[in-house]
Amino acid sequence: MIKKVCTTLLLISLIFCGCGKKENLPKDTLTSVKEKGILVVGIKTDTPPFGYLDKNNKNIGFDVDLAKLTAKHILGDAGKISFVTVNSSNRIMKLTSKEVDMIIAAMSITPNRQMIMDFSVPYHTAGQAIMVKNDSKISSLLELENKKAIIVFGSTVEKSLRSNVPNITIIGYKTYTEAFQALKAGKADAMIADDTILMGFAMNDNSVKILPKRYTKEPYAIAVRKNNPLMLEAVNTILKEAINRGEISQMKTKWGIN
Ligand code: GLU
Repeated sequence: MIKKVCTTLLLISLIFCGCGKKENLPKDTLTSVKEKGILVVGIKTDTPPFGYLDKNNKNIGFDVDLAKLTAKHILGDAGKISFVTVNSSNRIMKLTSKEVDMIIAAMSITPNRQMIMDFSVPYHTAGQAIMVKNDSKISSLLELENKKAIIVFGSTVEKSLRSNVPNITIIGYKTYTEAFQALKAGKADAMIADDTILMGFAMNDNSVKILPKRYTKEPYAIAVRKNNPLMLEAVNTILKEAINRGEISQMKTKWGIN
């Protein structure tokens, strides 16, 4: 008898608290983006040619075009987008705290980052390289032992450099713009970052050079919050179709990326 009463009470409480009801599950980001009618994208403003500002402070770059393409496919309008500026060290927090719906920010897939968020298929592969002033005698990473190198905090290079060249003095900056200015001002012997980003700065400046060797492979992808399978599938479909149509390689040509 007591058992029967307990079971009945348990069933009643389950019905009233709505446990197991589908409506209580959090919405997939794809659904909430469609409901609010705007895609909020974490984008860089310091990382040419992926994300930077033109002279009217408008967001431009490869990642900006990719964000517009994503909004066009999800919401039917490339203009239904809002950009939130992120840097290498705050972008993950802005995604997990739901300030942005996705990150498109020259961001490499790494095993550590995959524990926190999901990544799309890659849309570009960069490699870490060294940039020095034109008159520098430095020709390799090992020659930077006991010297100073500039990096950007939160980038993959911060970790790889600390483990591969333990005796290097690392000078970190929040943005690539500040890091590049510091190299030019002679604050260190070299700047280390992804080759495509370094090229974005070296393109219009012949006082610096990029050394030929690449030290890593950096697959860039769109990052979305974990447990949002619809959004992950949507960005993957958009990217795969754009790659197959040749649109991604046209965009790379437009922004001088090889
Ligand atoms: N791709 C590297 C990374 O994800 C460097 C670019 C960046 O700092 O945003 O860390």
